[in-house]
Amino acid sequence: MSSAAQSQLVCSGCRNLLLYPVGATSVCCAVCNAVTAVPPPGTEMAQLVCGGCHTLLMYIRGATSVQCSCCHTVNLALEANQVAHVNCGNCRMLLMYQYGARSVKCAVCNFVTSVGASASATEQKFNS
Ligand SMILES: [Zn+2]
Ligand SMILES: [Zn+2]
Ligand SMILES: [Zn+2]
Repeated sequence: MSSAAQSQLVCSGCRNLLLYPVGATSVCCAVCNAVTAVPPPGTEMAQLVCGGCHTLLMYIRGATSVQCSCCHTVNLALEANQVAHVNCGNCRMLLMYQYGARSVKCAVCNFVTSVGASASATEQKFNS
């Protein structure tokens, strides 16, 4: 009956995206063996793309800044309306990225999807 619901989080050690069954309280990373605590149910996770190295970062929604563990860039956590979506060009996973990013690296398959400049659609609104 119940579909095996899975959720995902970013490993606190190596920043790999980890999948875990819903209900688990912690996840042991198979890559670096770090144990990452699962945020309590109801915690809204958001994603942003690091402005320094373009790695997809996850953070708890409401945080104002997120430091990248790869390049240590501190990224401002923006509201949802400043985040755009694109489907990974390889595995079709829905990815989120900050406006201004030129490419998005998929955390699942590591495929880099280039984000076309969609400024023209926005500019039409100001064409008065
Ligand atoms: Zn890890
Ligand atoms: Zn980074
Ligand atoms: Zn992908």
